Amino acid sequence: MKKQTKAIRIQTPKSGNREHSVPLYLTSSFAFESAEQGKALFDETEDGNIYSRFSNPNVTEFVDKVCMLENAEDGIATGTGMAAVFASMAALLKSGDHIVACRALFGSAHQIITQILSKWGITHTYVDATATEAEWEEAIKANPATGTATADRPAAKMVYLETPSNPGLELVDLAMLARLKEKYGFILNVDNCFATPLLQTPIDLGADLSVHSATKFMDGQGRVLGGIVVGSKELIQPIRFFARHTGPSLSPFNAWVLSKSLETLDLRMERHCRNALALAEALDAHPDVAVVKYPFLPSHPQYELAKQQMSAGGAIVTIELEGGFDRVKSFFDSLEIATLSSNLGDSRTIVTNPNTTTHAKLKPEEKAALGITPGLIRISVGLEAIEDLIADFTQALEKSADVVAADVVKENVT
Ligand SMILES: *Cc1c(COP(=O)(O)O)cnc(C)c1O
Repeated sequence: MKKQTKAIRIQTPKSGNREHSVPLYLTSSFAFESAEQGKALFDETEDGNIYSRFSNPNVTEFVDKVCMLENAEDGIATGTGMAAVFASMAALLKSGDHIVACRALFGSAHQIITQILSKWGITHTYVDATATEAEWEEAIKANPATGTATADRPAAKMVYLETPSNPGLELVDLAMLARLKEKYGFILNVDNCFATPLLQTPIDLGADLSVHSATKFMDGQGRVLGGIVVGSKELIQPIRFFARHTGPSLSPFNAWVLSKSLETLDLRMERHCRNALALAEALDAHPDVAVVKYPFLPSHPQYELAKQQMSAGGAIVTIELEGGFDRVKSFFDSLEIATLSSNLGDSRTIVTNPNTTTHAKLKPEEKAALGITPGLIRISVGLEAIEDLIADFTQALEKSADVVAADVVKENVT
């Protein structure tokens, strides 16, 4: 069976009521049929639910579906994407370990690596997403200054990255990192949130773990928070131990929503990607849009890699407007359909100015390294009719055009 079919047909075993749609198991605990069964469940000679911090039928159904989509053996669902990212690091790293990460990271992942793991003596090195294999290797194997692993700068225990990156839409070559993994034996941990498992399966390309904010495209309608990490049984087992005892569990209600949403993920991603490509092409042809970045536009510097490791370009398009933040303000205020929000992965089109919102706290040099300029706009392209979206963006570009004209007049006067 195809993944689309399985995402619809994988289902918690029916109860005695022969329900068609899976019911919501809002229960914190589960009863034992006998003292013997209670003992067997705890000593793990019998599989089954005990307490919803450990497992719950709705959560298990969601995990089973994501494992199927990602071609992973096992997985753990969490209350948010960040809980999944943190659990994957905290469970597998210890004091003295080193993590090599891609510089372009979701803000909270950057905070975990630089402010939280560092408290426990876990050190890090950042590498540009588009760094060469030799540059990645240099960072992975040892201290770049001395070229050798030392006690205070060991070789990488984990490589953590997002591809495509947020908001720059830079890609990391997963097959290249899988080659380096063969040589150095680190854990390759990929945040696959932007691509979803339908456009990119990191584990097939050699990654060990794939983590997701299910809050984004998996829910796809901006309703619930959730996260998941999937991988081999061997790596998930310590993450399960960590999650079972520290308690970042996904709620049964959110799992129920997310599992239902996975039934339409394929359908939604198809429309998201078609809309995003069409909007990217329309904006690319507009003279006021200085830069358009989308992995499946031939002008993307890593277009060939995008075609290799992704089956479509995703729903995120970034553009840069002539006229800086003044132009962005006027453009945003002129949009009639697209919502101003910092979220993404919704059926509704969302625009974000990373420089003043999601990435506002970065230092100027960090912004420069990530290409975050005042005129940069991240568009999370939704499921609306593409004609309406192109018309909305075009009219807002026209309405805000006088900002650039006014700037030019000012420059000519001064
Ligand atoms: C949103 C997001 C996260 C964090 O997920 P939450 O569900 O908000 O905790 C992590 N990584 C990426 C790429 C995201 O977009």
